[in-house]
Amino acid sequence: MPILEKLAQPGQARHWTDSIPLEYHYTAGVAGEEFRRELRDNGRFLVSKCSKCKNTYIPARMYCPSCFIEMKDQFPIDKPGYVYSFTSVNRGRSGADTELPITVGIVKFEGVKGGIVHLLDVEDPDRVSIVMKVSPSLKNLSERTGAITDILGFKPISTGPSKTTTEGGTTERHAARTRNDQARSLLSSIEESGYPIEEDEMTISSLRSKIGKGEHLTSEEDRLLHRLGDKAKDWRKAVKSSSDTEPTDTLSG
Ligand SMILES: [Zn+2]
Repeated sequence: MPILEKLAQPGQARHWTDSIPLEYHYTAGVAGEEFRRELRDNGRFLVSKCSKCKNTYIPARMYCPSCFIEMKDQFPIDKPGYVYSFTSVNRGRSGADTELPITVGIVKFEGVKGGIVHLLDVEDPDRVSIVMKVSPSLKNLSERTGAITDILGFKPISTGPSKTTTEGGTTERHAARTRNDQARSLLSSIEESGYPIEEDEMTISSLRSKIGKGEHLTSEEDRLLHRLGDKAKDWRKAVKSSSDTEPTDTLSG
């Protein structure tokens, strides 16, 4: 078929089947390589800290995404991780059914931005809970290659906050339910306000988990929730006033 001939129907196009071998090499980058090296040699996670905004990031990176400055301060993390989010899957990467459900999760570390997506090494997915503390299980030193698969998975180191039951009469149960409803609506107003919760992420995750299970908040937690509610309210007010005063064609920030 001549190259300039116009095809009126897609079905008229002929095709050949063949393959083109392509090979890609991606580098982990300077900080990425240091992160992998620390994982391989010492079995630890390297983080970077910004000297300006004081934010810490995992995995280690060269530049602060907020300040755009080089981060020279790197150190291995020395605290356990916690489950930020998780799910169970029944199919592997090839699409084939797995023998048992596989639980994967995002593991974060308190006060550190970013996280690691990996397998959660639990037999029963029902035992996993948000903010459950976990630690990595690693391959033996001689088998590690500096890949993320040097981590076999994250194992729970505690089962998270224990369930509390509300004992007592109907009135007390009713009061507890009302308190939980109030906490629930306050929490969703915080989440809907768009208030940047990053710094308070750990606190909010923990409150969300307790409120979700209908557990009783301690007076300290209740105070925290109200404080966050006030912050969110102020944030909403500030956003509203800036959108009222700013012409729509200017960029804020
Ligand atoms: Zn910074």
